[in-house]
Amino acid sequence: MTDPAQASTIKTTCPYCGVGCGVLATTAADGSVSVKGDPEHPANFGRLCSKGSALAETLSLDDRLLYPQINGKRESWDTALDLVADRFAQTIAEHGPDSVAFYVSGQILTEDYYVANKLMKGFIGSANIDTNSRLCMASSVAGHRRAFGSDTVPGTYEDLEKADLVVLVGSNLAWCHPVIFQRIEAAKATNPALRVVVIDPRRTATCELADLHLGLKPDTDVALFNGLLAYLAEADCLDQSYIDQYTNGFDGALAKAGPVDMAKIAGQTGLSAQDIALFYTMVARTEKTVTVYSQGVNQSVVGTDKVNAIINTHLATGRIGRAGMGPFSITGQPNAMGGREVGGLANMLAAHMAIENPDHRELVQSFWQSPSMATRQGLKAVDMFRAVGEGRIKAIWIMATNPVDSLPDADDVAMALKACPFVVVSDVSTAVDTLAYADVALPGAAWGEKDGTVTNSERRISRQRGFLDLPGETRPDWWALCEVAKRMGFAERFDYADASEIFAEHASLSAHDNDGQRDFDIGGLADLGRSGYQDLDPVQWPVRAGQPRRDSRFFAGGGYFTPDRKANFIAVEAVAPRKRERTYPFVLNTGRVRDHWHTMTRTGKTARLSAHMAEPYAEIHPDDAASIGLADAELVEVKSPHGRVVVRALVSDKAQKGSVFVPLHWTDQFASTGRVDAVVAPETDPVSGQPGSKFTPVALSRVSSS
Ligand code: SF4
Repeated sequence: MTDPAQASTIKTTCPYCGVGCGVLATTAADGSVSVKGDPEHPANFGRLCSKGSALAETLSLDDRLLYPQINGKRESWDTALDLVADRFAQTIAEHGPDSVAFYVSGQILTEDYYVANKLMKGFIGSANIDTNSRLCMASSVAGHRRAFGSDTVPGTYEDLEKADLVVLVGSNLAWCHPVIFQRIEAAKATNPALRVVVIDPRRTATCELADLHLGLKPDTDVALFNGLLAYLAEADCLDQSYIDQYTNGFDGALAKAGPVDMAKIAGQTGLSAQDIALFYTMVARTEKTVTVYSQGVNQSVVGTDKVNAIINTHLATGRIGRAGMGPFSITGQPNAMGGREVGGLANMLAAHMAIENPDHRELVQSFWQSPSMATRQGLKAVDMFRAVGEGRIKAIWIMATNPVDSLPDADDVAMALKACPFVVVSDVSTAVDTLAYADVALPGAAWGEKDGTVTNSERRISRQRGFLDLPGETRPDWWALCEVAKRMGFAERFDYADASEIFAEHASLSAHDNDGQRDFDIGGLADLGRSGYQDLDPVQWPVRAGQPRRDSRFFAGGGYFTPDRKANFIAVEAVAPRKRERTYPFVLNTGRVRDHWHTMTRTGKTARLSAHMAEPYAEIHPDDAASIGLADAELVEVKSPHGRVVVRALVSDKAQKGSVFVPLHWTDQFASTGRVDAVVAPETDPVSGQPGSKFTPVALSRVSSS
């Protein structure tokens, strides 16, 4: 028995998905750690899902990267940092600032993101910093900016409980955001009026909660939501006063949607006219409607148009910014939102400012007192690694992400890194395939060891707090970035004692010269000091200095962040999904399973989590399996022009005919059958740059076991 008197408990935040659940981590007298949900955290009120509950099982130092390495050999931090700074400075001197890049991650903390963005955009003078969050929610960011003039999630999780209709589009909440799913499930149990519609080509676990499942054809969401806009107009369900007072462009969007033609929409989406009519009627009759969307919407070459088609329906009905209603993007990663706040994407500046706006650039440059601001957008993830392969980027620093397994066309990404003259990888794990391409490997601090903040999908900033000693020579990522910046000659502007000082600067910048004209403002948190930062309770932005906290929702009374403060309807066209070639007649859809996270470097450590799905698989419809002579549990090859993977068949009528689903988690570290992202086409949405990871034409063939 441990002595409770010597046990200590700290409040921190789960490092997995964008729900951002509060965690109580207790370290017992014998050093063992246990976790449970924080009953006071407003994201989860004590709940945790299977992944969060197993966090304590992932803390072993097995597979930890503990020391800096150069070409695989242990070196001192000084030697490694000197080399990184020298090679980046030399490359910039010879080839210009756009010859270097940072590729970071929604896993790093806001403070890490802030200094990475500051170094690249304000001191190196390039915007070549992008993030694996590009793969997760860039289309939502782009859709928000087109409609609202800013990247603002209007609502809160509470809206999902206050709604009478929750529409889940391309969102398997039951597995990917389980605590939100639990909250809706609990709300449904107490509110008999609450209906749930799931719009997803697959019949996922989330459908267990659905009153209606619309298994539409992949990438036909715009046709469905354009039809809804037209239906709402014809059924006299518009909020004309909201449209007139607070929006622009309604007539153009409605004209593009065309008249309601159920037969045509049914043909486009593959749904029955009866089901479409039922869905449209439910929305028309239910004022308190929330439309939740995630990767099935975002990970598409028409992802931004899908987002705007959804938002259009909420603007048209004025169902936004009020309790129980609004469009709601749920992010995949724990700190995708924090990265957006500090501008950790190639097309954004800090504090939600625009890189294309000279006034914003000047404001940020004067605040940072920086020598050379980036003046145009940098390369987004897929283009960044294409540039590495083409030799245009000659030095890259990859932080807390595993692109040789997780980017589309992953074999090409690996070849690009192999050819790149200088590659730095910061990570916590040696089970990261990208490390094999590193000239310099830097050991990062892991969850439980590092301090900082993350922001969840409802704009709530929470603290991640360290409760374990830093093992080996691991260091927080912000520290390594600042040490390199100092060695590149920028010591004065990167001299932070700890994460709280970075947060204070970030908060202060968000309010700098800001008269409420920008959505992201946390100036009221700038003067917390070290102890205030340590004690910071979860808080939703905005938190404006000198102003009382207001309603935590946006846009009920307009106040958009466009020049005329009105929202924009975006006229979007329903384009037919790409044709499937005869040699690649199926559509590959990739995604998550319930109990694993990304490339499994943490969740792969626990037998409990691995028991849910022991190996990778291809979920395939019985008719499709029969057409290629495939039986359940036999091996099947999934092949595209980019690569192949061999996995076990899971024959199920939950799959849509013509589609195959393969989870993204397994890498060569955990299965010897290949990585599915080697198969995925590197095609991207032209507005957001987000890859269309859910629509790759593939061929399927049975693999003989002999
Ligand atoms: Fe962690 Fe997401 Fe599960 Fe919450 S729902 S415990 S944030 S993985």
